[in-house]
Amino acid sequence: MPGYEIFGAEEKKEIMDVLDTGVLFRYEFGAQRQGVYKVLEFEKQFAAYCGTSYGQAVTSGTAALKVALAALGVGPGDEVITQGFTFVATWEAILDIGAIPVFTEIDATLNMDPVDLEKKITARTRCIIPVHMLGAQARIQEIVAIAGRHGIPVLEDTAQAAGARINGQHLGTFGDCGTFSFDAVKTMTTGEGGMIITADEKLWRTMSEYHDHGHDHVVNPGTRGGEGRRFIGFNYRMMELQGAIGLAQLAKLDSMIVAQKKTKAALKEAASAIPGVQFRELVDEAGDSATFFCFLLESRDHCQRVNKVLGENKAGAINFGENTWHFYPRWEHLLAGATVARSGWPFFEPGGKRRVVYDPQSLPVSAALISRTLVYPIPVKMSEERLAEMRAALHQAAKA
Ligand SMILES: *Cc1c(COP(=O)(O)O)cnc(C)c1O
Repeated sequence: MPGYEIFGAEEKKEIMDVLDTGVLFRYEFGAQRQGVYKVLEFEKQFAAYCGTSYGQAVTSGTAALKVALAALGVGPGDEVITQGFTFVATWEAILDIGAIPVFTEIDATLNMDPVDLEKKITARTRCIIPVHMLGAQARIQEIVAIAGRHGIPVLEDTAQAAGARINGQHLGTFGDCGTFSFDAVKTMTTGEGGMIITADEKLWRTMSEYHDHGHDHVVNPGTRGGEGRRFIGFNYRMMELQGAIGLAQLAKLDSMIVAQKKTKAALKEAASAIPGVQFRELVDEAGDSATFFCFLLESRDHCQRVNKVLGENKAGAINFGENTWHFYPRWEHLLAGATVARSGWPFFEPGGKRRVVYDPQSLPVSAALISRTLVYPIPVKMSEERLAEMRAALHQAAKA
């Protein structure tokens, strides 16, 4: 990660196809576009790459979550279960659709703990969103099985794991649908952008309509202005320039993963010298997208000692207990119910009644795991010098 590192001639060529026609918009302009439909092509190729039937491009990974939740019929009165270790976008989308996020513990995969998931399902649970955090798999097969027993749909937040698989099957295709982000820090980028994939034609059709003000996209003599609609929607349309970049980046995704894997293996080998070190459990190591390298120390204290030495040797790692964007107890705005709405929505009902209260101590297992985990983002390109510097730092840390 991230895809902008290898932005080059291929992306420029795709963009020029769009600029040459002057049609920046995904719909309409039939004759003028001379057969150039970049967003449509990107949707088809992305879905085919993942081995599924339908892709719906949208403006961001957060919009992808929102559109998917809308299409699944989720709204006020519903609960949606996700994990307490994710980017804020996952639960922002749940709150934005009017539902209440419920958080599970993570386990040694650093993703949703299926045992805790089972405990948190209630009669109001309408969707489960496991997140494939930091490029690697949640225990998605177990989660889908649990959800299936309760008749609850699964939406996989695959924003950080494009191209990752389990036994060859792409993440995002195990549940009812999977969402992706192509923002500035993701493995493949379109500047801003997102995608939802699904094998369910009805679900895709609802997403397609919802993301475009309800337009039914049925070609008729009245063209776009004459299209009908089944329900209200919103505007989350991707533009052609993003679709163009997406096509070029998608073609590079597998090679990016190969490069990341090589660097990750070299770092892992060096980190193995640290006494007591453990590695994040991978459901399928071969299917890891290797965008991040996570290693666990024996205790919080050991973790801090190790990271101090790494920092002194120009190779400080991320501890997500210190970063405020990815871990439940650090989301002070969620815990406090901070919102711009005067009514206090979505944390308060219009009448003033509090809808949900979050206890910062409620995920002790996750807190213990996160407190002793260190993470390196893996760039697509890393010089031999930098890799040697990081490996030397890890060897120094082995003495901490
Ligand atoms: C990046 C990210 C998103 C949101 O993507 P945007 O394109 O930035 O809106 C959602 N979920 C996770 C886990 C992410 O990392």
